[in-house]
Amino acid sequence: MKPDFAPQALLDAVDGDTMLREVQDWAAINTGTANIAGLDQMAGVLADAFSVLPGEVELVDPAPVTAISAEGREFEKPHGRHMVLRVRPEAERRFVLTGHMDTVFPAEHPFQEVRWLDDDTINGPGTADMKGGLNVILHALKLFEMTEGAARVGYDVMINSDEETGSLASRGLIEELARGKYAALTYEPSALPDGTLAHARGGTGNYSITITGRSAHAGRNPHEGRNAIVAASDLVLRIKALEAEDITVNPAKIEGGSANNVVPDLAVLRFNIRPKSTDAMNRFDGELGAILRMIEVEHEVGVHRHGGVTRPPKPVDAKAQALFDLVKECGAQLGQQIGWQPSGGVCDGNNIAATGVPVVDTMGVRGGAIHSPDEYLIVPSLRERAALSALVLAKLSTGDHL
Ligand SMILES: [Zn+2]
Repeated sequence: MKPDFAPQALLDAVDGDTMLREVQDWAAINTGTANIAGLDQMAGVLADAFSVLPGEVELVDPAPVTAISAEGREFEKPHGRHMVLRVRPEAERRFVLTGHMDTVFPAEHPFQEVRWLDDDTINGPGTADMKGGLNVILHALKLFEMTEGAARVGYDVMINSDEETGSLASRGLIEELARGKYAALTYEPSALPDGTLAHARGGTGNYSITITGRSAHAGRNPHEGRNAIVAASDLVLRIKALEAEDITVNPAKIEGGSANNVVPDLAVLRFNIRPKSTDAMNRFDGELGAILRMIEVEHEVGVHRHGGVTRPPKPVDAKAQALFDLVKECGAQLGQQIGWQPSGGVCDGNNIAATGVPVVDTMGVRGGAIHSPDEYLIVPSLRERAALSALVLAKLSTGDHL
């Protein structure tokens, strides 16, 4: 028999012991973004776990991604495969649920084990960010499948392998799966340990600018040289001057140069931007192009641009706000008080929002100290959040909410 929508019935149906055991097992597999073997193992474990749901599980190859070396050369960066589950793709109303299997802790990092901090808290790599969240997706969907509404709707689950380095190998896949969906839920941990959600987010972009000058002897014929370091320094000051209320610019690194008696013919400038609005993002892009042309002409150097905005700003429009309101209302029915606040961070929710689909991107567990060896997961939040998502999905499967 199918349990009805009574919130308490949903909560009672969640198997917290199984959730905890799975999260401990998953956190024990190292999935640093560069650890392809670990990611492959994890993708297999996830494919198995998610195969209990209806639909087809597929492991999708990463899109090719290049980076610029310190010597100014473009090279390919390997990535792990992504997991995709498609359930009832023929349904008219469909959702997308997303998460990431990678963590910021490489295979050689000392932080690899899970331990208890107190009766309610475990400390371990990726427990909150976000193997706990992946487990919430699985158990929320198991629960949702037991409700009446599930058969009327469809959904895709996407778990990528490269979120922590900007989702360059999965961005196209995320956008493809998001398009046309009724709503999206992403399972980053809550913004605060009390369950507060992240609301509007700024965007981010990473650039590598390679400047090629001409080397010459610093004493004999310096005038015949074209100094790449000087051009890069000029560029730093000019892009820093583009900072405004709605955008920050962080020149992070200049590589290149050579011996003291040589005019340097190579520099690679790396910088990050954080636009708060789509306007600021587009304005910067145009201005950067003009500045790069000016640098080329004035310093008589070659300029090559690599990178750009990878995560567009995520404003909260009326539809997205309606989704936040629904999550809050479902929380209240489960005895969970849920608020929200803007976040300086970025995630796949940014890319989903850019497709026009309403998204709440911190549906994962409660926890904190993520990206540090103090990362922790508040264990009771596994059940809480699974019930919350199941209830949100049950509500979204009928009526007109957004
Ligand atoms: Zn994360």
